[in-house]
Amino acid sequence: MGDGRDERRVVRAPLRRWLNRFLPPVCVLCGDPLAAVEPRVCGLCWARAQAQRPPRCDRCGIALYDSGIAFYDNGIAVSSSSCIECRDWLPYLRFARAPFVMSGTAAAMVRALKYGGWSDLAEEMGARIAGVRLPSEASVEIGAVVPVPLSPARLRERGFNQADLLARVVAARRGWRLLPGALRRERHTRRQARLAPRERRGNVAGAFRVPAGRQAELEGEHLLLVDDVLTTAATAQDCVRALCQAGARAVSVLTFARARRQIPKWHS
Ligand SMILES: [Zn+2]
Ligand SMILES: [Zn+2]
Repeated sequence: MGDGRDERRVVRAPLRRWLNRFLPPVCVLCGDPLAAVEPRVCGLCWARAQAQRPPRCDRCGIALYDSGIAFYDNGIAVSSSSCIECRDWLPYLRFARAPFVMSGTAAAMVRALKYGGWSDLAEEMGARIAGVRLPSEASVEIGAVVPVPLSPARLRERGFNQADLLARVVAARRGWRLLPGALRRERHTRRQARLAPRERRGNVAGAFRVPAGRQAELEGEHLLLVDDVLTTAATAQDCVRALCQAGARAVSVLTFARARRQIPKWHS
C-alpha cells in the first residue's frame, strides 16, 4: 500500500511481551497507554480505521464511490448491478463483505497480526468481522466456516495461519461450525503482494484441494470462507472452485479488510 502512514512502527510482539512484565500496557499500533492489556489496539486507532462506506455493491460489498466504480451523475447513484469488480466472479461465489478498507489502521493491524507476531490481535479483529451484516439469504443459509489455508511451507515459516485464528473467532461468535483443514493448499505460491493481478490468477490456480474424506461435511452447504484481506479475489475464487467441486453449493467470503481496486494502467 502506498499510504505512508501505513509504514508507522509496530512494536514487535516478543519484545513488547517481555517489556510488559515491567511496563504498563500500550496500544500495539500507536504506543499510547492502555487501561488494560485487552484490547491491544486503542479506541482512537480503531476509530481511524476506514470503513467500507455505503453505497456498496450488493454482491461484493465494495464501496462504490470510494473505489471509483460508480459516480454521482446529477446526484443520481449508479446501481451496484453494474459493478465491474465482481461481474466476472464465479456464479457460486455469492457474497463478499469486509468491515474495513485495506489502508491506514486496518493495514497496520493486518501486518501486526501476520508479521509482527501479534497473533492475539485475532480476537478483536475477528470480532469486527463477525459483526458484519451479511445479506439475509447468506445469514440464513451459512452453517460452517472454512479458513483460507496457508501452504505447509508458509505455515512452518509463520507458525500460525492468521485466517485460522480469525475464522475461529467468527465461528464462535456467530454460532457456526468451524471446519479447519477442510481445504488444503497444495503448493507453495509466490507472494501475492509482488505480483500483478493477471499473474496472481495463474499463481494460485489449482493450488487448493479438499482432502479425501472431508467432502461429506461440505455436501450441499453454503460455506463461509474467512481470510484477513481480499485483494483481487483470485485466491478466494480458487478456494470457491475447490469447495464447490467437492460438493458445496455456494460460498460467501468475509475478510477483515478489502484492498482498494487496482486501476489498470494504460498499455502503450
Ligand atoms: Zn492506538
Ligand atoms: Zn461488486
